[in-house]
Amino acid sequence: MQRIVYLQQIGDFNESILLRLKNQLIGEFKEFDISFEIVKDEIPLEESDYDSTRRQYNATSILNKIAYHLQEKQYFRILGILNEDIFSGSLNFVFGLAMNPNVKILSFPIAALISITRLREDFYRRPTNNALFELRVLKEAIHELGHTFRLKHCNNYCIMKFSNSLRDTDNKPKKFCESCHNKLKSYLNHLE
Ligand SMILES: [Zn+2]
Ligand SMILES: [Zn+2]
Repeated sequence: MQRIVYLQQIGDFNESILLRLKNQLIGEFKEFDISFEIVKDEIPLEESDYDSTRRQYNATSILNKIAYHLQEKQYFRILGILNEDIFSGSLNFVFGLAMNPNVKILSFPIAALISITRLREDFYRRPTNNALFELRVLKEAIHELGHTFRLKHCNNYCIMKFSNSLRDTDNKPKKFCESCHNKLKSYLNHLE
């Protein structure tokens, strides 16, 4: 059975970002026999997920919504992508969030979410850098998907290193270190 990760657009933004991400993810996960597809219909952003005091969206609530929305589909994994600033719990902001695969609820698919808002140089009033932006989107996507494959944060030179700031994201590679790579391989091998 081929494992397909579905990329789910949430809210409005240029679809080419998703296409580029998909093609890059295919390359990065080829050796794991995981493929990627874009879900045709986007999920709209809802006011109930917006915190007007913080002026941010609630990542946890959106994450649950994606899983709920897609519960009938037999998706292996879903990665939601949105172009809005998100927060989670007590954190001021998060680049992304993932469900814990150990607590899979009923038939809900395991989902992860990334926000591309803070990955743009423009957000920090610096000149646009598209190549850098795309690389950051790819890194955040791989990192959150890594969590859905049961990988924890890692202190090696590794994509699973925790990013507290954009500099952390820029300083880590887009690859799994040897240890995480092996854990991922064995996790996927033991899935039914
Ligand atoms: Zn993480
Ligand atoms: Zn690692």
